Amino acid sequence: MVQRFQQYIDGVFEDGGASFDSLDPSTGKVWAQMPRASAADVDRAVRAAHRAFNAPEWTGLTATQRGKLLSRLADLVAAKAPHLAQLETADTGKIIRETRSQIGYVADYYRYYAGLADKIQGFTVPVDKPDMDVTVRREPIGVVAAIVPWNSQLFLSAVKLGPLLAAGCTVVLKASEDGPAPLLEFARLVHEAGFPPGVVNVLTGFGEDCGQALTTHPLVARIAFTGGPGTARHVLRNSAENLASTSLELGGKSPVVVFDDADLDSVANAVVAGVFAATGQSCVAGSRLLVQRGAHQPLLTLLKRKAEAIRIGDPQDMDTEIGPLATRRQRDHIEDVVARSVAEGAALITGGKRALDDSEGIYYQPTILDCPNATISSVREELFGPVLSVLSFDTEAEAIALANDTAYGLASGVFTTSLTRAHRVVRALRAGVVWVNTYRAVSPIVPFGGYGLSGQGREGGLDAALEYTRTKSVWIRTSDEPISDPFVMR
Ligand code: NAD
Repeated sequence: MVQRFQQYIDGVFEDGGASFDSLDPSTGKVWAQMPRASAADVDRAVRAAHRAFNAPEWTGLTATQRGKLLSRLADLVAAKAPHLAQLETADTGKIIRETRSQIGYVADYYRYYAGLADKIQGFTVPVDKPDMDVTVRREPIGVVAAIVPWNSQLFLSAVKLGPLLAAGCTVVLKASEDGPAPLLEFARLVHEAGFPPGVVNVLTGFGEDCGQALTTHPLVARIAFTGGPGTARHVLRNSAENLASTSLELGGKSPVVVFDDADLDSVANAVVAGVFAATGQSCVAGSRLLVQRGAHQPLLTLLKRKAEAIRIGDPQDMDTEIGPLATRRQRDHIEDVVARSVAEGAALITGGKRALDDSEGIYYQPTILDCPNATISSVREELFGPVLSVLSFDTEAEAIALANDTAYGLASGVFTTSLTRAHRVVRALRAGVVWVNTYRAVSPIVPFGGYGLSGQGREGGLDAALEYTRTKSVWIRTSDEPISDPFVMR
């Protein structure tokens, strides 16, 4: 039975004109039909968001009332987590263990911003004029175009919707054309929570029509984008049309630096979780492992054993540890980079093949490449798949140079028992996140974002909510003296 999903514009669920098929990556078969938003649909959604931004149903709410709506949304997300997780797993192939726990955490993001809504404050300025009071108000920026990629759509949209709704903005959220089911279903929770019509609009469609129309729309004040750097360049160019401000959360080629004093069993578990979770389709995947020479061979042996023991299979099965890739396009890309890397001199330690029969879905083995140098393609390019590239180093300075030898700068990991060295390396790494003796921890309270090609702006924490505001400086003259005639000289 093929399921049919609807888009959500101005408080109404609708089929939209055209539609497209969505594949279940674990079977490769069509399981659902999604509405394909046209430029006209985008225009209606942005106009609805603009109307809502100026309507008393939204502007008349106190910040505390906005917080209560967000809190209700958090409760609904938590209550519906099993269903949302099952949809995300069906539409993207991400394993049910991960989608269940991540969606529980999505509710926490909405809860955090629910609490923050009435803590977004303006301030007064001790202005250098005795007869003036100056206050600075913080006001919501306007209509936000939020665009997310196909991995973790509920999570990646929560880090945008939480702060922007807390700040009082309205939004048109564009789900990815791959795996949009959980977001289209999430729109029903927004509706149930009682947000006024038009405050949140949820569409899905392709970049060239839906994404293009959304990012160039004159009524959009800010674009909150997560995706690849190539698309981000389009988005930035598009923002020249409406002069919208932008935040860009992009890809990564994150290094995990392991010194030979670290506990290698513990490191191996962290590395496996860091690169093979979500079948490697994660922006923070620790895909470049840099190991001090003495630990190189022992760690590689441990990792090979662990990678080969990973259970690959049906993503809806709670025992599965690696599911399929989300799209065939993704697998083609991974196969191409792995083949090039081997031709360039990388040694294939394990994996490097499709995991199950092609007719059963888009599976790829957990793969480890031992790389002789940093020019190998898999060391330089983001694969967004279960592929680990390993390099070795001798000195701390060499480790830092290798770690920073990338155009990206999203996440990084350092494993050492030396406190002083940990501090030195943390200072030297060019990345928005450094995890020391751990990997992949996130929290709504902590800022997240990248350096270089990994993006601009930060999500998470209070600052993320401030990004959706702008200030208004209010000058109030306190003198009762009449203003003198400016053309009469005294
Ligand atoms: P993508 O850049 O191809 O697509 C992202 C979104 O942009 C999709 O919704 C797509 O429809 C839309 N889009 C495409 N063309 C557009 C255009 N011209 N105008 C406006 N929107 C357009 O990315 P993807 O392949 O779906 O996702 C993988 C990428 O996302 C990887 O690089 C990954 O690292 C990155 N990512 C980053 C983070 C982060 O927080 N830093 C999180 C997850 C994924």
